[in-house]
Amino acid sequence: LSKAVTGQFYSVQVGDSTFTVLKRYQQLRAIGSGAQGIVCSAMDTVLGIPVAVKKLCRPFQNQTHAKRAYRELVLLKCVNHKNIIRLINVFTPQKSLEEFQDLYLVMELMDASLCQVIHMDLDHERMSYLLYQILCGIRHLHSAGIIHRDLKPSNIVVKSDCTLKILDFGLARTACTNFMMTPYVVTRYYRAPEVILGMKYKENVDLWSVGCIMAEMISHKILFPGKDYIDQWNKVIEVLGTPSLEFMNRLMETVRNYVMNKPQYPGVSFAELFPDWAFPSDSEHDKLKSKNFEC
Ligand code: AMP
Repeated sequence: LSKAVTGQFYSVQVGDSTFTVLKRYQQLRAIGSGAQGIVCSAMDTVLGIPVAVKKLCRPFQNQTHAKRAYRELVLLKCVNHKNIIRLINVFTPQKSLEEFQDLYLVMELMDASLCQVIHMDLDHERMSYLLYQILCGIRHLHSAGIIHRDLKPSNIVVKSDCTLKILDFGLARTACTNFMMTPYVVTRYYRAPEVILGMKYKENVDLWSVGCIMAEMISHKILFPGKDYIDQWNKVIEVLGTPSLEFMNRLMETVRNYVMNKPQYPGVSFAELFPDWAFPSDSEHDKLKSKNFEC
């Protein structure tokens, strides 16, 4: 962590938030906001490169936020992969531990989040390349023992040359989610049943999310757009059919009672959901080299 020295920082208003950053970071412009904080693009005048500066929003407001911020920072520092966002710098403008309040992460700057790209008519090569890169990033996280559990388009960023990076490391183990809990505004459409229903999970929960993202790229519609966890579970079983008894037996009792009391659904066949015509056609190979997609 860079130590604060008076005169090294300046403050600038970004929307409702004040960014107090090292003077080397100039021309701050808001580019996004997430559950954790606000993100600006900026020019790093020392390295001469554009960067993304993320101010973590009150990281010490409670234990969950603090643990999440700590986890994020530790993982960002040790993960090194071309499909995971790279941390360039991290600093606080406060001068002592007693005053320590704000945390700023400086990362490489990308052009757009996958939310802005997912509805575009991507050709076969670009769609495959984007999905391939998500899988490479996820495989790397899995090999490091990290299960993301909350992979979604807003946590994935792309550049106009079609390169892609995963922005975060998902749900911290402490952020336990309860099926019956009142939902607050976060996107949960891409979360696997194990996560929705609070079950034991393994690496394949992330492949569920990749599948949901791929489905949305193809159909331009969210696959399981639940208003809350219960509504989302209904959407899942309407499409995939009532789960097996083996699955039911792995549920907590209260959840099992709820899930087993739902009507029986046969599910929809894959061919019906994703007919061949819905997939982008193969494009000539050399197009990839000559044309960038616009974000
Ligand atoms: P986060 O708080 O990490 O969820 O980020 C919120 C939003 O800010 C993302 O959905 C992106 O649109 C944008 N963003 C975050 N980091 C970057 C980055 N390194 N490059 C470009 N955009 C970013």
